[in-house]
Amino acid sequence: MGVAVAQIDSSGADWVHLDIMDGKFVPPLTFGAKAVADMRPHSRLVFDAHLMVCEPERHIEDFARAGSDYITFHAEAALHSHRLLSVIRDLGKKAGISIVPATPVSAIELLLPLADLVLIMAVNPGYGGQSLIPESIEKIETLREIRRKKGLNFLISVDGGINIETAPIVRSAGVDILVTGSAFFGARDKAALVTDLRKL
Ligand code: ZN
Repeated sequence: MGVAVAQIDSSGADWVHLDIMDGKFVPPLTFGAKAVADMRPHSRLVFDAHLMVCEPERHIEDFARAGSDYITFHAEAALHSHRLLSVIRDLGKKAGISIVPATPVSAIELLLPLADLVLIMAVNPGYGGQSLIPESIEKIETLREIRRKKGLNFLISVDGGINIETAPIVRSAGVDILVTGSAFFGARDKAALVTDLRKL
């Protein structure tokens, strides 16, 4: 994992997106707050922790203490999302809310004033290398419209199926943050990929 962080650092990317999976909310298991804390001294980039875990309220403090800058949890996994967003902000961190492909934007509309980031999952979470689900594009457009109408300022992020072909599409739909996994780690020239994405 240290190698991955070094690759991200040297590519010129701005953020390190950390996919935390618990083997329950999604089938695979990845790593926990301890690994994030171990990586933290090796990078000055923004650490964006994406918690794909059940009962995220039990883990928020650990990830805050580990040095995450953004902590994003799933609306589907939390009983009291509204409160949890405030808890993250009270810990001095940026609060993010994410939804899987089956969840409409309307499900989180009341939470948006408390969110610093909204993460649209453009694939079903759990595995890399999947294709972007087209309905995700409408969700991004809807979010951008709500943000404009209500004068809010959360960032819109998209995760899953993002590569050099899909990035321009989601970018013109209004996304601010592009998360790439397979496209990044599969690229021979990672810095060139980041430069190309940044041009968007
Ligand atoms: Zn993610």
